Amino acid sequence: MAKLIVSDVDVQDKKVLMRADFNVPVKNNEITNDNRIVAALPTIKYIIEHHGKLILLSHLGRVKSDADKKELTLKPVAERLSELLNQDVKFVSVNEGSELESAIAAMNDGDVILMENTRFQDIDNDFGKRESKNDPKLGEYWASLGDVFVNDAFGTAHRSHASNVGIASAMKAAGKPVAAGFLMEKEIKFLGNAVENPVHPFVTILGGAKVSDKIAVIDNLIPKSDHILIGGGMAYTFLAAQGHKIGTSLFEEDRVPMAKELLEKAGDKIVLPVDHVVASEFSNDANHEVTDGVDIPDNMMALDIGPKTIKLFEETLKGAKTVVWNGPMGAFEMSNFANGTLQVGKALGELDGATTIVGGGDSTAAVQQLGIADQLTHISTGGGASLEYLEGKELPGIASISDK
Ligand code: AMP
Repeated sequence: MAKLIVSDVDVQDKKVLMRADFNVPVKNNEITNDNRIVAALPTIKYIIEHHGKLILLSHLGRVKSDADKKELTLKPVAERLSELLNQDVKFVSVNEGSELESAIAAMNDGDVILMENTRFQDIDNDFGKRESKNDPKLGEYWASLGDVFVNDAFGTAHRSHASNVGIASAMKAAGKPVAAGFLMEKEIKFLGNAVENPVHPFVTILGGAKVSDKIAVIDNLIPKSDHILIGGGMAYTFLAAQGHKIGTSLFEEDRVPMAKELLEKAGDKIVLPVDHVVASEFSNDANHEVTDGVDIPDNMMALDIGPKTIKLFEETLKGAKTVVWNGPMGAFEMSNFANGTLQVGKALGELDGATTIVGGGDSTAAVQQLGIADQLTHISTGGGASLEYLEGKELPGIASISDK
């Protein structure tokens, strides 16, 4: 069922609680990458422009002791957000109690408040991890501060925490609306449509280090995909399962039976590398060469797909109308082994009328590092969340949003 979106709800004069994903990398209280703050701007601006009183919540990192609080304060996020919005964002250094409540009581339409890191509630109390273990009393408390709840934190949608699921449950119990923000809406639209209702031909591309991380994704997408291209370190366990020589390439011996089962289930849908760039060790300076065929010499490891594989993957992608890509085709962080990932990314960019979606932390880093992100339709902001979505799991953060 379609979810309620922030634009379906009247926010004028309302206290709008918004769960954003401001879990940005911070070093010595400096934000080193503000992508996630920028990604939340459309929803934030919409609420301001529609005269809501915006009360923002987010977690940042993992808070295990008082010592973590210094590095994991959201104060720098409030400052960066003020710059991006060109308007004062009031930072409240607590997330519970009278200081927060008076700051909210003093708000005018269009004002913005950011309260302190929700995970500061994970220590110093009798419950234990009140935020991360979803203490219902905490969700109820936060819900009591607002008239409307907007969840725009796709990156935490696979978690059932007080600041997403807890607030949503309490808001609904009080008869108040729970809506998705525009970022969440976009993620549901692209990832959800791709998994539930893809336009065919639908091609899944999987890579990255480990088969074990992606088994559930392959299993879920075999019946839905027309082709599944497998590259990266995970390809070698499949090739070993077929009886090929894989040298010293990444190998998960205990996953061989599962790989065999998936190959059998998929029939000829799974397309594996037919040649490789191999190296004597895991280093950009190592001797490297392209193999003639699929077998790899004993003392060499495959660190990228080879030119014949790139051609084969490009051919298989021709005419595709939906593509989901998770995981790089090789050790792309090293320039000598980045070509496979780059060429696959370029091939996606050249597809005519296709929806191309990248999900997962390392694939996102890869397409950004290689400068091909703007040629793709959608780059998911959630690593773990997008992987669980592709596995076909219901994400609690999404399930808890009201239906239209
Ligand atoms: P993942 O987080 O599962 O998407 O894995 C991404 C990591 O897999 C990256 O750091 C890549 O360097 C690594 N990787 C990809 N292909 C290979 C390969 N053939 N051998 C070793 N590591 C690889």
